[in-house]
Amino acid sequence: MKRMEFTLVAVVGLARYVVTADLALIPAPREMTVTGGACPCATAPKVEVVASIPPEGYELSVRRDGVTIRHSDEAGLFYAKTTLAQLRNRGGAGFRATAQATDGQKPVPAEIPCVEIKDAPAFKWRGLMLDECRHFFGKETVKGILDLMAAYKLNVFHWHLTEDQGWRLDISGFPELVQYGAVRPESPKHGCRGVQGDYRGNGQPYGPFFYTPDDVREILAYAKERFITVVPEIEVPGHIRALLAAHPEFACREGVPRVPCTLNGIEGDVLCAGNDEAIAFMEKVYDEVCALFPGTYIHIGGDECPKKRWKECPKCQTRIKALGLGNEDGLQAWVTRHFTEHLAKKGRRAVGWDEILAGNPGTETVVHNWRKPEFGVKAAEKGHDVVISSSRTTYFSVSQGVKDDPFDYYSRRRLPLSVAYTFNPLAGMSAEARGRVLGAECCAWSECIWNEYDLAFKLWPRGFAFAEVLWTYPDPAKRDFAEFSVRAAEHRRRLIDAHVNCAPLK
Ligand SMILES: [Zn+2]
Repeated sequence: MKRMEFTLVAVVGLARYVVTADLALIPAPREMTVTGGACPCATAPKVEVVASIPPEGYELSVRRDGVTIRHSDEAGLFYAKTTLAQLRNRGGAGFRATAQATDGQKPVPAEIPCVEIKDAPAFKWRGLMLDECRHFFGKETVKGILDLMAAYKLNVFHWHLTEDQGWRLDISGFPELVQYGAVRPESPKHGCRGVQGDYRGNGQPYGPFFYTPDDVREILAYAKERFITVVPEIEVPGHIRALLAAHPEFACREGVPRVPCTLNGIEGDVLCAGNDEAIAFMEKVYDEVCALFPGTYIHIGGDECPKKRWKECPKCQTRIKALGLGNEDGLQAWVTRHFTEHLAKKGRRAVGWDEILAGNPGTETVVHNWRKPEFGVKAAEKGHDVVISSSRTTYFSVSQGVKDDPFDYYSRRRLPLSVAYTFNPLAGMSAEARGRVLGAECCAWSECIWNEYDLAFKLWPRGFAFAEVLWTYPDPAKRDFAEFSVRAAEHRRRLIDAHVNCAPLK
C-alpha cells in the first residue's frame, strides 16, 4: 500500500496514530486505533445490529480478513459506510454517491488500513443554512450541498426560503407569492455589497426563481436518502417585503411597493401583527408548509423586526392594548407564541432567531442564537432548547482571508479557517444549559454570494472545521489546528478532484 506519511501525530479520544492520507478522516472519529496492516476489502462488509450503540453511532472494524460494521439505527449504518468511503478514497471520486459506493453490493476494490473505530456524534443537530433569497442557486446546487453535508456527517439542511429580497416557495393556493415575490427588477452588481451607500444595481431583472412543490419533494427525498432533515424557514413578522409585494394589504401602512427589495439590509415594512387577516393568512401558509415538509422543526425567523411601523399603526396598538402586551416587544412575543402554538397543534416545533427572546415568549420555541453567544446562553438558561450559529465563527458568508481571494466582497471582515476551528457551541454554558444545546449551524447568507462557485469557495474548507466540532467536539482547550490542517488539506485535494471549488487553506 502506498501511503503519504505526514509527520504529525493525531490525538483523538484515546488513540494516537500517524496521520496518513488514507487515515485523514473528517470529522475525526471519537475513538480510533490503527492496528497495522491493510484489508483488501474484496468482500462486502459484515453488518451487525447492536442495540447498545448510541443513535447515529457505529463501530467499524477493519481487519486483514474483512470489514465488520456494528450499529443500532440506519443512520449509524450510513455513517459507518461514509467513514469507510473516506478510508477508501484515493482520488476524490464518490462524493455524488457516498452511500451507494459502499452499499455492500458492489464494494470498490481498494486496500484500506486496518482500524478499530467507535464513533457517535457529540451533537444531534449538525446543520448548514443556505439563503436562497438574496441569490437563488437551484436544485442541482442544493443536491451538491446535500452530498457534501452527508460526506461530512452533517444532518440538518436549514433552507432559508423567504426574505425581503425574494419568496422562493410556490405554495399551493397562493400563486401571488411567487408571481410577485420571486422576481425583482434588478440585483446588486457583482462584487457590490448591495446596502445603502454601496449599491450599484446590475440592471438585470432577476427571476422568477422559486421551488415548486414537486421540486421540494425531490429535494426532500434526496436529503432523506442521506439522513438529512430539511428545516424550511418562512419568516415572520420581519424580513417579509417579498410577501408584502404579493399582499400589500398585510402591511401596517399603504403604498408598499409591489416588488421585493433590491437593497440589502433591514427593511422597515413588516407584517401588520394587529391585522387578523394577515395572521390568518400566515397560519394558512404554515399549514401548507407543514403539508409539504415532514420534519418536526419549522423555522419562523423572527429576527431584525423593526418596531417603527407597529408604533405608528392603529391596529397594532389596539392589539397591544387589548391583550395587555405592554409594548411592541410584547407584540412580537405574542406573534412568536401564536405561531409556536399553531405549529404545535400539528405536532411541529417552531424555531426562531434569538431576537424573539426580547418579549419573553414561551420556552416551547427553540431559540436559534446568531448574535453574541450570551444570547444563546441566556436562552438555554431560561429553558429554551437552542441551536447555535455564532456570527463570528459560523457565518461563512465573509472571506476566509486566504491569499488572492477572488470572492472577497466584505473588505474588512474575515473568518479564517483557524477561527472556524475554534467554534465552541457550549462556551459559557452551565452544566444544565449544556443539556439544552441541540447543536449548531453554519450559515451561508447570500447577499454577497452570487453563484455556486462562490458558494462552494465560502463553505469549504470551513465546513470541515464546523463538521468536526459538531460531530467529534474536540476539547476546546486542546484543539490542534496544525493536525486538523493536515487532514483538511487532504480533503481539499479530494474536493478539487471532484470539481468542488474548495478554497485554499491559506
Ligand atoms: Zn400594524
